[in-house]
Amino acid sequence: MSTAVPTIKLLINGEFVESNTSDWRDVVNPATQQVLARVPMATPEEVDAAVSAAKEAFKSWKKTPIGARARLFLKYQQLIRDNMKELAAILTAEQGKTLADAEGDVFRGLEVVEHAANIGNLQLGEHAENVASGVDTYTVQQPLGVCAGITPFNFPAMIPLWMFPMAIACGNTFVLKPSEQDPMVTMRLVELAIEAGIPPGVLNVVHGGPEVVNALCDHPDIKALSFVGSTPVGTHVYQRASQAGKRVQCMMGAKNHAIVLPDANKEQALNQLVGAGFGAAGQRCMAISVAVLVGEAQGWIPELVVKARALKVGPGRDNPDLGPLISPRARARVAGLIAKGIEQGAKLELDGRAVQVPGHEHGNFVGPTLFSGVKPGMAIYDQEIFGPVLCLVGVDSLDEAIELINANPHGNGTAIFTQSGAAARKFQEEIDVGQVGINVPIPVPVPLFSFTGSRGSKLGDLGPYGKQVILFYTQTKTVTSRWFDDAASSGKVNTTIAL
Ligand code: NAD
Repeated sequence: MSTAVPTIKLLINGEFVESNTSDWRDVVNPATQQVLARVPMATPEEVDAAVSAAKEAFKSWKKTPIGARARLFLKYQQLIRDNMKELAAILTAEQGKTLADAEGDVFRGLEVVEHAANIGNLQLGEHAENVASGVDTYTVQQPLGVCAGITPFNFPAMIPLWMFPMAIACGNTFVLKPSEQDPMVTMRLVELAIEAGIPPGVLNVVHGGPEVVNALCDHPDIKALSFVGSTPVGTHVYQRASQAGKRVQCMMGAKNHAIVLPDANKEQALNQLVGAGFGAAGQRCMAISVAVLVGEAQGWIPELVVKARALKVGPGRDNPDLGPLISPRARARVAGLIAKGIEQGAKLELDGRAVQVPGHEHGNFVGPTLFSGVKPGMAIYDQEIFGPVLCLVGVDSLDEAIELINANPHGNGTAIFTQSGAAARKFQEEIDVGQVGINVPIPVPVPLFSFTGSRGSKLGDLGPYGKQVILFYTQTKTVTSRWFDDAASSGKVNTTIAL
């Protein structure tokens, strides 16, 4: 193996170690194809070593006072803030998104770290006095043990930070498996977590693909598993890890629709559609990929095309409007779906396939692409494209728009643009989608709330961060207690049902 390119290390029991594997993948800058690093596909022994370090560390970590756990994340959030520019630069180099967007990626994760620093107010039980005479009942929220996380390529800072800070703040230990496509910023965040004082074995990292994921699903010492990624892989992970007796949460794919009513503020609505459709080159689980134009709003297509065409495409470090797709394979897939859209009869209003980025001829660029006349049954409607392609569907009424959205297999995010409170309220009540935006295009909840999802976008009851994640990463224990006052007790045997 060449020594010129750095290798990504595993983190086992507090040590950053070189993998013994012979299977390595390149981490590639998607704007230039420069190989930035090599990432190992960890061996089964390395996965075992990471889990067993986490299992051993749990014995003492679970007893660490809640204030000590909270202070660790107070320190961690400051370290992330201090290193924000460096983190964003690493993220942009390996993932492709613009520097401004990369800072947003880190910042949305940082907010979850701040939330973890508030664990003292979150991991609380309940108490009821005198549930029977002289008897009290209370609950304690105890950590589970070793937890694991598997993350996607599109938010390599935010999504790992959805997982390990909350799990560890609750008193668990953790094994993280980052995306093999862009693990560098995740590892820098992990280094900062160690610098903040996370003890050896409490946080561990293994790298790899399907084999490592399957090993984590099967491992008997892992109690809970968090996954974020595509629906087919998430469904597999949910089934496999549940079968092995784990608690599992899987946040998965999307086909997010935005309804535009003709009474919407036109300028605002069109700007939001363009931003949420093409930002991050459409590689967001909360990207708007279908705009449902109701009635006269269908006449706004030419203005949408003008706005989309004006967006600048380029390498993320120059802060254009959108950067490249993650890989040549992703680019080829998106280009193939655009060709399929034309073949299946949708009208191509704007074609981003031939976009030129001078000096970056080998980058995985696709420019903003718009289709009108899109219908269910077309591949561009039925599949998650995960590229800068916005599909426009025309309908006559709000009812028709709601019916269309509720019939889609995915239920991750949705939005409505309108000036009518009555229409917005009806939409909010009737739509079967996890995240709902009202004149807000990408409603990723802040960590006071939990990320959620419906239908094909989520498996498992409890979401990441917010209050729900405390229940996910803890076991509720219900204690019923009676203390005898010797002087007053009768000493009689009671054979009726307890209490
Ligand atoms: P992916 O499903 O390909 O990969 C996710 C993780 O699973 C990676 O760590 C990868 O190594 C692993 N993996 C890939 N193939 C596997 C297999 N066959 N068996 C076991 N493990 C496997 O997803 P991606 O392309 O990295 O990310 C994009 C997807 O993630 C999109 O579908 C997007 O909508 C979704 N996503 C969802 C959310 C959400 O909160 N709902 C957030 C971000 C991304």
